[in-house]
Amino acid sequence: MNQEYADIILPFSVRGKFTYRIPGSIAGALKPGMRVRVHFASRISSGIVIRIHDTQPKHDKIKEIISVFDNTPAVNDTQLKLWSWIAEYYMCTEGEVMKAGLLSEKNIDDYKQRTEAFVRLLKDCSEKQMHEMLDALKKAPKQCDILANWIRMSGYPDSMISVKKSDLLTESRSSVSVLESLIKKKVFEIVLLPVSRTSPERIKTETPQLLSQAQDKAITSIKEHFLNKEIVLLHGVTSSGKTEIYIHLIDEQLKKGKQVLYLLPEIALTTQIIQRLKKHFGSSTDVYHSRLNNGERIEIWDKVASSRRHGQLILGVRSSVFLPFNNLSLVIVDEEHDGSYKQQDPAPRYNGRDTAIMLSNIHGAKTLLGSASPSIESYNNALSGKYGLVELSERYSQIRLPDIIIANTREAHKRKLMVSHFTPELLNAVDDALSKEEQVILFQNRRGYSPYIECSECGWIPVCVQCAVNMTYHKGIDRLVCHYCGFTMRPPHNCGSCGSSGLITKGFGTEKIEDEIRLVFPKARVARMDQDTTRSKNSFNRIIKSFENRQIDILIGTQMISKGLDFENLTIVGILNADNILNFPDFRSHERSFQLMEQVSGRAGRRNKPGKVIIQTSDPSHKIIRQVIRHDYKSMFRLQADERKTFNYPPFCRIVRFEIKHKNRGQLVIFAEKFGDELKKLFGKRVLGPEEPLISRVQLWYIKVIILKLEKEKSFSQARSLIYEAMKHIDSEKGASSLRINVDVDPY
Ligand code: ADP
Ligand code: ZN
Ligand code: ZN
Repeated sequence: MNQEYADIILPFSVRGKFTYRIPGSIAGALKPGMRVRVHFASRISSGIVIRIHDTQPKHDKIKEIISVFDNTPAVNDTQLKLWSWIAEYYMCTEGEVMKAGLLSEKNIDDYKQRTEAFVRLLKDCSEKQMHEMLDALKKAPKQCDILANWIRMSGYPDSMISVKKSDLLTESRSSVSVLESLIKKKVFEIVLLPVSRTSPERIKTETPQLLSQAQDKAITSIKEHFLNKEIVLLHGVTSSGKTEIYIHLIDEQLKKGKQVLYLLPEIALTTQIIQRLKKHFGSSTDVYHSRLNNGERIEIWDKVASSRRHGQLILGVRSSVFLPFNNLSLVIVDEEHDGSYKQQDPAPRYNGRDTAIMLSNIHGAKTLLGSASPSIESYNNALSGKYGLVELSERYSQIRLPDIIIANTREAHKRKLMVSHFTPELLNAVDDALSKEEQVILFQNRRGYSPYIECSECGWIPVCVQCAVNMTYHKGIDRLVCHYCGFTMRPPHNCGSCGSSGLITKGFGTEKIEDEIRLVFPKARVARMDQDTTRSKNSFNRIIKSFENRQIDILIGTQMISKGLDFENLTIVGILNADNILNFPDFRSHERSFQLMEQVSGRAGRRNKPGKVIIQTSDPSHKIIRQVIRHDYKSMFRLQADERKTFNYPPFCRIVRFEIKHKNRGQLVIFAEKFGDELKKLFGKRVLGPEEPLISRVQLWYIKVIILKLEKEKSFSQARSLIYEAMKHIDSEKGASSLRINVDVDPY
């Protein structure tokens, strides 16, 4: 085939295929995945080659590629396959996926890699062979000494990390010439490797813990399922030792020299788990998330791309699915039910769990999903036999699940027993824990001081100038903040409607809880962990470390502290307001409430001291609360699954959600109706709306929502082409240029 044309992905949301001519000077050398410079819409842009062919495009004004950036592909085949799956499935452009999936070129060009010489074994070597080698070197004690030191420093035979040459020489007080003799004898080789800013070198690694009988059984069962299934769901109650099981499975893969991806829904979780992993896997472990700086990110990117069968573990958040894996054999998605896996904005609006499953599939790897309260979707897949199912119903070493105590806030208010926002049950439990020098976590899913301010005369509430959202009061900075667009203003002294000065703060967020708990327990050391206190790079680490070191008695936080954390001395968990968790109007709200409360509860009493959870609610008989008390996931699942079947919700249908936006409200109404009609022509009763969403205006854009419910059995790719057809119709309408339609497949 002649290298005449190349299809290029450009980092824009413009739909369509972009084909360029390949100039003679580079023809024959161009490969898919390479970065090139091209002219696009009167500017120069960089793009990625996806296909090389000799089919002349229909239009004749075809431009030439200007130049090629590097001599090797920046993106490998499996990445390109994943990109195109994401673009297709989540209905966005490959350019949008590229923006999410590729480090920007500025990053790459800025980066000067630091490499240093490392020493590693030339060939894999069994312990027997190693003994023979040491024996053979008896007559050369200096060489023998270097090899012995290398063994100690590399963690051999459990892992075979390359050892920095300079360190090896210092430690063995030896000279380069002695090392060179070992290279001549084909024991060692010297390689240049990037020196890590991310992982400290030379950690002594420990072998994984011995598993309990229940864990052993679970791991055997996981492996059996993997013989004929690609995906296994591990449903294990909180603190049942799931992480320990992951560690064993990872260990096996690393020993085979494979890559493993371990996904977590939030950065906050990576800080604790990384310590546990590093203990076992040393510097073959890296963390990947958005808080890393460019250099660190590129370094990990390069390490993953060049991991030459040395065994490598990446712990990361959803964006790690974009790393250039080439030897991936296992993907673990922990807390698989978690909504944070879904990217809301901008496109690609992908679900990290589902994308990880696809990534794993492309590599022919296996996927292990783990959760204490699996998503209805995954559990349904497990029951139907699509996934293997493995369950762990007891905590590690028979520690009891925490007792759940319901504190009725309505009663307490009536009987004037509330102290600020705290019930007597909660205060007693906290008091008790503090007197035993045990620790407490208080959970409130709202940050700020109070969610809104209200005029006590006329009920007026300040809302954001750009969004249809109440402004949240933040006391620390004494400002009202919009949590949707970030707009802030000074709190008004007088009512914007009647002029009264009787403005009062309503409701409570984490900041207020922090203030008030300090008043109630003046001697306790109190800290808060939410978006506002964790803006700097190491803030998660600092707070979690201080809690681990018992420098904090009471930690208050949002969902950030609800998952995965493991604290030895934490016995009391308080959920301050279960009502606003339960009353969120969405088909997933019950599932989510159960998961959230079960997760938060799971932090308590994970070691020898029994844990207790106090849930404050005005509705103690709510069915979800009853299920949480009994830790009864299965009832929750059955009830939710029944309801979703009856009312046709996922997993029994597929939802596509359209967000239609315009800055002019009148225009929006007209266009939304028109788009709805187009869709109804194609999909009939499967179309719901347009409707006004809960937040009907964000950042000056008015919003309408249309929901499309598609049968699972029907072809989704056909439905997608029909959707594109409807969108094209609207795009061609007059005035549609200032209209935006965001498509969200499997919205959360
Ligand atoms: P999960 O991931 O299910 O919440 P973890 O793996 O964090 O549970 O285990 C809970 C606690 O029990 C942790 O402190 C962990 O170190 C400990 N643990 C679990 N399995 C073992 C084991 N086999 N040997 C020693 N300690 C274990
Ligand atoms: Zn007023
Ligand atoms: Zn706003």
